[in-house]
Amino acid sequence: MPDLPSKVGILGGGQLGRMLALAGRPLGLDFQFLESTPDPPVSGLGPVLSADYDDPHALERLAALVDVVTYEFENVPVEAARALEAWVPVHPTPSALEMAQDRLTEKTEFRRLGIQTAPFRPVDSLDQLRTALSELGMPAVLKTRRFGYDGKGQAVIRQDSDVAPAWDTLGGVPLILEGFVDFERELSVVGVRGMDGEFRCYPLSENHHEQGILRVTRAPAPGLTPQLQAEGEAILRSVMESMDYVGVLAIELFQVGDHFRANEMAPRVHNSGHWTQDGASVSQFENHLRAVVGLPLGPTDQVRPSVMVNLLGDLPDLTEVLELPGAHLHLYGKAPRPGRKLGHVNIVTESTEASMATARRLLQMLPAPMG
Ligand code: AMP
Repeated sequence: MPDLPSKVGILGGGQLGRMLALAGRPLGLDFQFLESTPDPPVSGLGPVLSADYDDPHALERLAALVDVVTYEFENVPVEAARALEAWVPVHPTPSALEMAQDRLTEKTEFRRLGIQTAPFRPVDSLDQLRTALSELGMPAVLKTRRFGYDGKGQAVIRQDSDVAPAWDTLGGVPLILEGFVDFERELSVVGVRGMDGEFRCYPLSENHHEQGILRVTRAPAPGLTPQLQAEGEAILRSVMESMDYVGVLAIELFQVGDHFRANEMAPRVHNSGHWTQDGASVSQFENHLRAVVGLPLGPTDQVRPSVMVNLLGDLPDLTEVLELPGAHLHLYGKAPRPGRKLGHVNIVTESTEASMATARRLLQMLPAPMG
């Protein structure tokens, strides 16, 4: 039997890296992280090279220490991922990282593949913004093309008087204007593709945000029909196949009627897939690792209805949390800070109603996300 990679390098040292390592240890995998912030969530799960992503010596050293490199954070410079590729396999492909970092190229690619999105226009000047608004109408959403997260770097333009303030806040970097999608709900599709092209997809989940940050994910999404699941899977699959993608990919979707508009993708494990740790046969973390080291993929079927609740800003009384029926606690080892993701709770019971009832009790115990 050929030797499989057993040393995995991870760019980034946050909670996603931590949960990848926790899932990979039982598979016999060892981890080496590259992360510049002190005392990251991955501390204790493998050695951490403390350096910036654009430090060429650190990249070369990382490549020498591992068999394969992946990322847990999508704002890693593409040049770093490309430099590593000269020495060691990098999955998912750096071009997927590059595409996901820019909302304009991402939406252009969705359209090229025949996937519906909000209408959009690139915006680099106030004149272009006014032209784009006259074409797309109001309301519309102005967003930075790069480095947006948790609803940051965007402004809704509802009327003429919103235009100048939105431009003053966001202008100066490349922007995109999107037509406002009057969606019924937000879902995400998370799946995995192996090196041999095998594709597996988890049931679609429904996401609820608080102040722009994911608070609750329900899986399966209530009222998920086979048609919706098939459409979500087809979207994910076509994006993965077009890039010869290896690993887990998540796409956030807006549901409009019985169809989807793709909003954005994350070339990594995703917060809306955390429920799979306790509610699916094999978690997104384990499946991502299986894919990037070339092991057979695991089943993605749902074992029990799940609700994931993020712990934001500050922690509740953890004893009370652990007393909730079906509650599984996952902490990230991070200090409290307004809006910060400190952990999550997966509530997994015999029925969606029971999981939701417990999630409501949990939500009442939680401090406000912003303090
Ligand atoms: P994003 O950073 O693109 O995920 O956007 C953050 C949130 O803003 C989404 O989860 C939606 O609730 C909302 N949003 C983003 N884009 C649009 C749009 N084109 N139309 C309506 N709502 C949007």
